[in-house]
Amino acid sequence: MQPLHDITILVAEDERPVRMLVRVVLESAGARVLEAEQGAIALRLLDLHPEVDVLCTDVNMPVLDGAGLTLAARMRRPDLPVVACTAMDLDASYPALARAVDGVVQKPFVPSDLVRAIGDAVARRREVIVAAS
Ligand SMILES: [Mg+2]
Repeated sequence: MQPLHDITILVAEDERPVRMLVRVVLESAGARVLEAEQGAIALRLLDLHPEVDVLCTDVNMPVLDGAGLTLAARMRRPDLPVVACTAMDLDASYPALARAVDGVVQKPFVPSDLVRAIGDAVARRREVIVAAS
C-alpha cells in the first residue's frame, strides 16, 4: 500500500512551484491534497473540510504565516497533526512553533523526507488518540 493511502493533507505554501511539487509528491504517495497559497485560505479550507488529517505548512507566507496558521488550526482542531516545511532553522527562529509541530521538513527536501515526516506525524497522533481512549 502507498505510505499516505487514504490520508487527506492540507498544504499551505505561498510559492507556487513548491506547492505543485509538494502536491505531486504527496499524491504520488497516495494522499488526497488540498492546497492554499497562504494561511488564511488554509484556515478556510480547514473549516470546510473536516476530513483533513494533517496540515503541512510553510512558515514564511503572506497574510497569515505558518506560526499563526498552526495556532489558529490547533484552536479549531487540537489534535490536528502539523508538519512544518521550511528553509529556516525553526529551533532558532521560531522555537515555540518548533515545539508545537509534530515534524519539520527542511527545504530543500527530498520526496521521501516529506512523505516520511507526514506519515510519522499522522501515525503518532493516532497512537496518542488510541492510548487515551
Ligand atoms: Mg514561503
